[in-house]
Amino acid sequence: MFEYAPAPESRSVVEIAPSYGLFIDGEFTPGKDVFKTVNPASEEVLAEVAEAGPEDVDRAVAAARRAFGTWSALPGPERARYLFRIARIIQERSRELAVLESLDNGKPIRESRDVDLPLVAAHFFYHAGWADKLEYAGFGPDPRPLGVAGQVIPWNFPLLMLAWKIAPALATGNTVVLKPAETTPLSALFFADVCRQADLPPGVVNIVTGAGDTGRHLVEHPDVNKVAFTGSTEVGRQIARAVAGTGKKLSLELGGKAANIVFDDAPIDQAVEGIVNGIFFNQGHVCCAGSRLLVQESVYEPLMESLKRRMATLRLGDPLDKNTDIGAINSAAQLARIRELSDVGAAEGAERWSPACELPEQGFWFAPTIFTGVTQAHRIAREEIFGPVLSVLTFRTPDEAVEKANNTPYGLSAGIWSDKGSRILAVADRLRAGVVWANTFNKFDPTSPFGGYKESGYGREGGRHGLEAYLA
Ligand code: NAD
Repeated sequence: MFEYAPAPESRSVVEIAPSYGLFIDGEFTPGKDVFKTVNPASEEVLAEVAEAGPEDVDRAVAAARRAFGTWSALPGPERARYLFRIARIIQERSRELAVLESLDNGKPIRESRDVDLPLVAAHFFYHAGWADKLEYAGFGPDPRPLGVAGQVIPWNFPLLMLAWKIAPALATGNTVVLKPAETTPLSALFFADVCRQADLPPGVVNIVTGAGDTGRHLVEHPDVNKVAFTGSTEVGRQIARAVAGTGKKLSLELGGKAANIVFDDAPIDQAVEGIVNGIFFNQGHVCCAGSRLLVQESVYEPLMESLKRRMATLRLGDPLDKNTDIGAINSAAQLARIRELSDVGAAEGAERWSPACELPEQGFWFAPTIFTGVTQAHRIAREEIFGPVLSVLTFRTPDEAVEKANNTPYGLSAGIWSDKGSRILAVADRLRAGVVWANTFNKFDPTSPFGGYKESGYGREGGRHGLEAYLA
C-alpha cells in the first residue's frame, strides 16, 4: 500500500483580521457586543466578530431602504454589470475564499475549492444574465422588486447560501440585509469586501452578524418586505409564525431526510459512489443529503460489501489537506447532536458500523458511520442527523420503495439508481420531493430550482422559479 504524502493548502493565502464589524451602508461599524468564531478542526479562535443588536439591525434595514430607491431604478443592464463584476471578483479571489471557508466551516478544501466556490460564482453569473431580461421571465410584462430582503442562512454552505440569497435579490432590484450563521461568519464578511471592490452602491448589501436573536430582530423588522430563510424546520416554523399576517413575502428552505433508492438493476459501483457522495459530502451537513439508503433486498449483500470497502478508503482529517475527504464537524453543539442520535440508533437496536478511522485529538470529529437493520420506527430513520451517518433500510418492490421514501415529514430531495429509464421516470413521479436525482446525487446548478415539500419548506431557489420569490 502506498501512503499519501500530506498535501496542505497554504493557509497564508488569506488574511484574517483579528476582529470584524458589521457591514452597514458600505462601512464596517461596531455592534452591541462581540463573539468569537473558531476553526472547528483545531478549536483555535480565528477572529472576533461583532454581534448586532436591535439598533444595529435597524440601522442596516434603514441603509437598505435608502439604497432601494436608486438600486431598483437602475436599468437592468446596469444591475447586471455589478453582478458580473462580483462574479468575476469571486473567481479571482476564489483561492482565498476557499481557504477561508474551510478554516471557518471545517469542510475539506477539495470541496470548498471545487464545489462551493465555482457554484458561488455560477450563481452570480447566472443571475447577472437575468437582470436585464426580467420582463421575459414569465411573471408579467413589468415585474417589480419587493423592497428590502431580510435573509438568514445556516453554516453548512456559508458562502453558497449567501450567493443563493443575494444574487437573485439584487438581480431583481431588491436590497439586502443578510445574517450569516454565528459559527461561520467570515466568508460573508469577506463578501462585504468584494461588494466594495465591485463598487456596489452603499446599502445595497448589508451584513449583520450574530446568533438567533439577531436573526429574529431581522425577520421581525417592520420595514423588511421579504424574508428568506434557510435553516432548521424548527426555526422555520417560528419565522412563519412571526411573519404571518404582516404582508411580508416568505420563502423557507428547511431540513430533509432524503431517500436514496437503489434497485437491483443499478450499476452497483456507480451507486456506491453516489451513496458515499450523498451522505459523506460536506460531512453530511447537507439538507438534501441521502441519509436514508433504501436497497432492494436482492442486491443488499453485494452492495453493502462494496459500500463498506469504499468507506474504508475515505480519508478523514485536516480540512486544508487536498487529499482529505471528510473534514471537521462544524461545532461542538452539532457534534453532540450527531453523537446523541447515533447513540439512540444503537440503543433502539440498529447495527452500527464505521471503518477503522483515527480521529484527531483537537477539534470536532465524527467517523463516517452506517446503521443497518434500521426500520421506519427508528428515530435515525425519521429525524435529520445532519452528519456523516447513513441509515440503511431494505425493500422488495417499487411500491414498497416509494411508500418508504415518502414516509417522512420532509420532502426535499431523493435519488433513484436503476438501469431502466422507464422505472426511473415512474418512481420519480411518485416521490414527494422537490429534487429527484437519477443515477447521480447532490448535483447542483443555478439554472435548476431547488426547494422542498411538506416540512422541508416552501418556495424555490435558483432557476426562473427562484426569481419569483423576489418579485411582486
Ligand atoms: P438553525 O435553524 O438553527 O439556524 C439557521 C440560521 O437561523 C442561523 O443563522 C441562526 O442564527 C438563525 N436563527 C436561529 N434562530 C432564529 C430565529 N428565531 N429567528 C431568525 N433566525 C434564527 O439551523 P442550523 O443548525 O444553522 O442549520 C442546519 C439546518 O439547516 C438543518 O436542519 C438543515 O437541513 C437546514 N438547511 C436547509 C437547507 C435547504 O436549502 N433546505 C440548506 C442548508 C441547511
